[in-house]
Amino acid sequence: MILFLIHKNLEVIILAKKYVIFKDDDIGKDFEGFKKWIDVVLENKAKAAIGVIGRYLKNQELRKYLNSLDEKQIEIFCHGYYHSHLPYIYNKLLRRKTLSKTEFNKDFGKQNLSLKKYRLLESKYLKIKSIALGPQGNIWNEFIIDAALKNDFKLMFSWDKAKHKLLTIPLTDNFKQNSLDEFISAYKKNKENSIYTLQFHHANLSETQFDLMAEVIDFLKNDEDRVFVTPFELLKISKSDKTIFDLMAPENVR
Ligand SMILES: [Zn+2]
Repeated sequence: MILFLIHKNLEVIILAKKYVIFKDDDIGKDFEGFKKWIDVVLENKAKAAIGVIGRYLKNQELRKYLNSLDEKQIEIFCHGYYHSHLPYIYNKLLRRKTLSKTEFNKDFGKQNLSLKKYRLLESKYLKIKSIALGPQGNIWNEFIIDAALKNDFKLMFSWDKAKHKLLTIPLTDNFKQNSLDEFISAYKKNKENSIYTLQFHHANLSETQFDLMAEVIDFLKNDEDRVFVTPFELLKISKSDKTIFDLMAPENVR
């Protein structure tokens, strides 16, 4: 069921029971795969949040494309500045249990510098300033909160419900299925979640999975009555819907 509410400043806010966010990471590394992913989202009238790696904004073709997208439908978030994949490779090779340092489990100074560098290129090259942060590998330590707030981020994608001061977009699942039946059986356990955030890595998707994306969009919209939102829209909804706010406010978590 979808309700419409006229807000006091006469904006129409959609109040749905259930929302969906598609999150795609690593924008900048694989331009062709990324464009293909966006095409599926646009052709199926969905919405998405896309995580740009700051240093790739030096690529003129990429930023021209990013600026051509409608931010009400495709919203950019910050996926770090450097995003080295070396720590992941070391960990795999050495089968280590303790993770090597990535960009957002370093000290405050280094995290702050990364975000400042991101903001600098963003203000130079992009038409919109992003409000959400999605740390690489979703790996972070407590310093990320101050670094994010200091650099004017309002939201952070997170699997954890740790106690801190930044609003989060709770992550729900990774897209890894190969058929709609497989997807639906994985989806069942999250069916009742008001916010369903599905994480993608376009670079890893097979042709079958690109096709499946369209079926999944149709299923979530039409069978599950979920409304696609961007991080900005979810933040706005959280201001008038307490259930949503509580899901996004980790300081309430005991
Ligand atoms: Zn990444």
